Amino acid sequence: ALPWATLPEAGPAASSAISLYARLTPGFDERLAATLALLKQAASEHPGSVVLANSLGAEDMVLTDLIARHQLPIAIGTLQTGALNPETLALIPKIEARYGLTVELYSPVEESVVHFVRQNGEKAMYQSIELRKACCQVRKLEPLGRMLAKRTAWVTGLRREQSNNRGAMPDREVEANGRAKFNPLVDWTWNDVWHYIETHQVPYNALHDQFMPSIGCAPCTRAIAVGEEFRAGRWWWEDENAKECGLHVKQDSAAVSA
Ligand code: SF4
Repeated sequence: ALPWATLPEAGPAASSAISLYARLTPGFDERLAATLALLKQAASEHPGSVVLANSLGAEDMVLTDLIARHQLPIAIGTLQTGALNPETLALIPKIEARYGLTVELYSPVEESVVHFVRQNGEKAMYQSIELRKACCQVRKLEPLGRMLAKRTAWVTGLRREQSNNRGAMPDREVEANGRAKFNPLVDWTWNDVWHYIETHQVPYNALHDQFMPSIGCAPCTRAIAVGEEFRAGRWWWEDENAKECGLHVKQDSAAVSA
């Protein structure tokens, strides 16, 4: 396990993600300045053509707050997969009320979901990795393709310490289809994320208070135990190396929008 990917012991007084994780650590101000600079660069290089893919997790809430606070012309988009927890969905109106922003919602094609469930059942994702990825294709990747269509850049809340697979991630890259991808939080620690949330009173997903550091669809997310890795609660029945939904795997635009 990565040394940074374990969670602290939850003491009896620890009742919220902020009390558990928010810490000011050396270099935070520099990391924050670099993040803001990269967001400004994304906005200026891609005027009217860049979107934050907001998964409604803690990292994306930090980015949403920065975008709103600095009035950056970066759209906010969310994949409404049809399988999100109520706590996750509850964040959408909170974002809109707090920041006066409209969250663009991208839902799967209803017929595709009905067809998939009719063919494979509600619990198909647990049967095989192929069916799990097929579910992600219908509920996430196809809507993501629509979110990114006609846009030349997107912003994500990916951090290097989230998993081994993300350890070498650059802060910006150009995908095979030519679209720019900005990852302004690559260097941030989990403590940084919560320090920012605490300092700026950022609204966050209530599931983070229930030992869910990484949050996805309800059937594919569970709480982690003390000492487990950051993403241990995502697709926990699968091999570690398979744990990506396809949103952040290198691929061309055809694969995203197919
Ligand atoms: Fe389906 Fe789970 Fe992927 Fe959500 S995360 S799209 S429920 S397999």
